[in-house]
Amino acid sequence: MSDHRILLLGPPGAGKGTQSTRLAETYDLDHITTGDALRANKEMETEYGTPGEYMDAGELVPDPVVNEIVVAALSNADDGFVLDGYPRNLDQAEYLSEQTDLDHVVFLDVPEDELVERLTGRRVDPETGDNYHVEFDVPDDPEIEERLVQREDDQEDTVRERLRVYRENTEPVVEHYREAGGLVEVSGEGTPDEVFERIRDVVEE
Ligand code: AMP
Repeated sequence: MSDHRILLLGPPGAGKGTQSTRLAETYDLDHITTGDALRANKEMETEYGTPGEYMDAGELVPDPVVNEIVVAALSNADDGFVLDGYPRNLDQAEYLSEQTDLDHVVFLDVPEDELVERLTGRRVDPETGDNYHVEFDVPDDPEIEERLVQREDDQEDTVRERLRVYRENTEPVVEHYREAGGLVEVSGEGTPDEVFERIRDVVEE
């Protein structure tokens, strides 16, 4: 078992997706992201309704649905993983602790006003899944720029609700790992390269 079982925590818009993609590529890890898995299954019927009903409102998808995604992904991740977007509440954190140990818990810290600006300006390339920003990261290729779309849940009202849900449900998870010891806080401000260097220092220390 590798010593690269990494949990990346942080509010929506902190850069977890960008940074965990880089970590997965750099260290050849499985990238386990509940957000992407749920987006690919937005219309799936479950006994709680479809994931999309919760996601478009900025609410959490019920625990049994996300736990099942995570346990299946973990069972294939023998050479290490980076977990992104899970756990988002204390029950999920408890469930995770029954499934695996973690080697690194990294918290990406970004002030709230910057999160709103990042999320409402975010645009996604539907063909590649790559993220851009209307102001800070415009694609060079006008063809890509033309096909960019906004995630349904990146509209301002939903962003505010996602941040509220984060404060209510996920901040206690951050506190839980902080109290348990071993949580390392990294500034998520600056360029993606700068942030990645900070995370790499933590993972390699
Ligand atoms: P993300 O791409 O991580 O921002 O997730 C987008 C949306 O997917 C969230 O706003 C939730 O509705 C849902 N989601 C992702 N991960 C979880 C999770 N661990 N628990 C519950 N809902 C989740």
